[in-house]
Amino acid sequence: MAEVILKNIKKVYPHQDGKKKKKKGAEERRSNLTVTDEGVLAVHDFNLSIKDKEFIVLVGPSGCGKSTTLRMVAGLEEISGGELYIDGTLVNDVAPKDRDIAMVFQNYALYPHMTVAENMAFPLKLRKVPKEEIAQRVAQAANILGITEYLDRKPKALSGGQRQRVAIGRAIVREPKVLLMDEPLSNLDAKLRNQMRAELLQLRQRIDTTFIYVTHDQTEAMTLGDRIVIMKDGLIQQIGTPQEVFNHPANLFVAGFIGMPQMNFYNAELVQEDGRYAVVLDRAKVFLSDEKQTKLKKNGVRPGSVTLGVRPEHLLLTGDPNAMVCGTVNVSEMMGSAVHLHISACGTDTIIIVPTAELENANNYAIGSEVSFTFSGATAHLFDRET
Ligand code: ADP
Repeated sequence: MAEVILKNIKKVYPHQDGKKKKKKGAEERRSNLTVTDEGVLAVHDFNLSIKDKEFIVLVGPSGCGKSTTLRMVAGLEEISGGELYIDGTLVNDVAPKDRDIAMVFQNYALYPHMTVAENMAFPLKLRKVPKEEIAQRVAQAANILGITEYLDRKPKALSGGQRQRVAIGRAIVREPKVLLMDEPLSNLDAKLRNQMRAELLQLRQRIDTTFIYVTHDQTEAMTLGDRIVIMKDGLIQQIGTPQEVFNHPANLFVAGFIGMPQMNFYNAELVQEDGRYAVVLDRAKVFLSDEKQTKLKKNGVRPGSVTLGVRPEHLLLTGDPNAMVCGTVNVSEMMGSAVHLHISACGTDTIIIVPTAELENANNYAIGSEVSFTFSGATAHLFDRET
């Protein structure tokens, strides 16, 4: 069993020597991270309970604190506050080698003078595992990862994808309780990245380990994670399954970060008629779904200005311009199975995904043509208007 619990975890990077320290008690925001007299708060209020064998992905833009969090779990970075438990044991002050975890890095970090087999055997040798057992465990990991034929090669004679498999192999021969991965696919080209993503999904079926995986790529997060943790400026924004964060984003940031192409956002008005909420955008007045009506009523939401979000796949082109949102086609991108129409509407660039099969006549959507579209009350996301 390897549960990992992070309780109020905090990381403060102290001010560099020589830099003027802030007055005690003073607090400010620097490049969106909170800065106190102690230093820069790279991660704070981080609370997460990871279940045994769960695949957790930490995702967010560069600098949001993902690697710092992972490195604190690994023991490579001191924890400034809070408690970290692995398997029920408080490990804040336990050395990395005694935490029973393994880590895979973006740059593979293989030893160039050793063969693949020697690289994979190295952590077991350090632990004085008997020779026969080392050979057996290396062979087994190589088999799982499909690198048996490269065991005698040196890393420089391997492709990027093969090297990353070796790095993963070196991590899993130890049969760690927790496998940490920091952007392991970032150095691979797009095609190989897709392939390795699928291989990672297979790998997790074959080994009994808890995974914590860091990426800035929302597609990787959505496809790999049992749950994903979305971070911004050192703070968790939302924790949920891929479906939960996609269907019910907790805030505007998550709504814009998860989903490709990005959700469309508009300045709209929330109105109430006969006790029912509707959202008004241009000429469209769309009544919200029963589920959303109940939620808004429960929260006592008042009519007024809101930010409306609708995903590109949920906007519907329609022929009736009188009751709809109207705009002009700017760009039409043929993606194969779908066309992405970029439309100027309501002062913003709207993207609508139209499946090619539904595209009766491409000329209808030629650049410069007028189109009208609408959305359903079930797919409308409402957020407080950010001023
Ligand atoms: P991410 O992995 O999400 O890109 P990091 O965890 O690497 O983000 O960094 C979070 C913040 O902490 C960033 O603002 C970064 O500049 C800062 N930071 C990271 N490592 C150090 C360090 N060793 N010293 C000072 N600041 C650091």
